[in-house]
Amino acid sequence: MSDLIVVGGGIIGLSVAREAALAGLQVTLLERNAPAREATWAAAGMLSPLAEAPDDGPFLDFALASLRSYRGWVRAVEEASGMEVEYRESGKLRLALSGPELDRLVERREWAEARGLGVRWFEPEELRRKEPGLALSIRGALLLEEDFRVDNRRLGEALVVAARQAGVRIRTEVTVREILLEKGRARGVRTAEDDPIEGDRVLLAAGAWSGTFSELPVPIPVRPVRGQMLSLRTEEPGMTRVLESEEIYLIPRDDGRLLVGATVEEVGFEGGITAAGVRSLLEGALRLVPGLGSAPIAEFWSGLRPGTPDGHPILGPAPQVEGLYLATGHFRNGILLAPRTARAIVPLLTGSEGPTIPDVFSPARFEGARREPVV
Ligand SMILES: Cc1cc2nc3c(=O)[nH]c(=O)nc-3n(C[C@H](O)[C@H](O)[C@H](O)COP(=O)(O)OP(=O)(O)OC[C@H]3O[C@@H](n4cnc5c(N)ncnc54)[C@H](O)[C@@H]3O)c2cc1C
Repeated sequence: MSDLIVVGGGIIGLSVAREAALAGLQVTLLERNAPAREATWAAAGMLSPLAEAPDDGPFLDFALASLRSYRGWVRAVEEASGMEVEYRESGKLRLALSGPELDRLVERREWAEARGLGVRWFEPEELRRKEPGLALSIRGALLLEEDFRVDNRRLGEALVVAARQAGVRIRTEVTVREILLEKGRARGVRTAEDDPIEGDRVLLAAGAWSGTFSELPVPIPVRPVRGQMLSLRTEEPGMTRVLESEEIYLIPRDDGRLLVGATVEEVGFEGGITAAGVRSLLEGALRLVPGLGSAPIAEFWSGLRPGTPDGHPILGPAPQVEGLYLATGHFRNGILLAPRTARAIVPLLTGSEGPTIPDVFSPARFEGARREPVV
């Protein structure tokens, strides 16, 4: 019998499983398909606390703590796996294309400066010297210095190797159908093949599918939020920083690809690529860098983000079920938040000291909420 059963082999399940195994627990991870293929594979790999946090508060603090631990965490994963994951501390340029966007960007600059967060302002002339391909219509730009990027697909692959190396037993093509409950305690899971798998504790990290376990006494209001993306092939890497407007973002990869993302769509569990999605991405990209019009398209894809009603992740012990823990609902920021999530959850499992999880992330905040059908 395992000390811990992890349901879901995305970046969150893998990160917590690896950390728990390193802390001495016997861990079995169950993954419906292959690990690190769903949102973890589909993501853009931006590590963007300043762009993602609307204001001060626990989310910004948690996200900054995660970002600041990323270098050490990634190096350890790279070392354990023998793989390089293209982690780059290259910064992000947020661009304003209109008067109102410029006003909002100036406000953001003042907000960041007042908090001592690393930002730098660029007027259009200076900006064009730095990034010559940018559209002449850009009115100004804010460089977010504490904004990094990683190749999330490589990171996912490396984490699978690193988790196995730490001792995690990863079982693929095992779908968990239900969490086994006995006298208010989780005692394992039942698979789609009707096999019970016993474990002392269970961690639910099933991404956008985390809300589908209707046997639990308290709802887990996670819903899928589709994101479509595409990539272009550019002649030479050229750009090193992420560029972001209010419409889209452009992320360079070292091999010359440029990723364009992403739509945010409430279409249930429907995957796929649509004409309107692709049009909005390409229009947004060409508005920022007109020369991309001749770039060949390399790939299209989409993924389902695990969304929550308040946009915050759901982290910690499940109410009313002893031995069940939740690490889900990371929405647009699961790649960024993975190291901090693992560091915060594992001490709850081992009974040791660790970073506190903000109350606003607690699963208990949904006690009493109505269970919505997951479509
Ligand atoms: C287009 C797009 C762009 C994004 N860009 C960024 C970004 O730039 N930066 C960032 O930080 N985040 C980004 N995200 C968000 C990020 O990808 C997610 O927050 C993160 O991947 C969530 O990880 P997860 O492990 O919870 O979910 P997932 O990666 O979806 O993994 C969940 C796993 O659980 C498995 N599973 C589900 N149900 C079961 C079951 N019953 N039994 C067994 N296994 C099960 C699934 O097969 C899956 O492998 C983006 C997401 C998308 C879609």
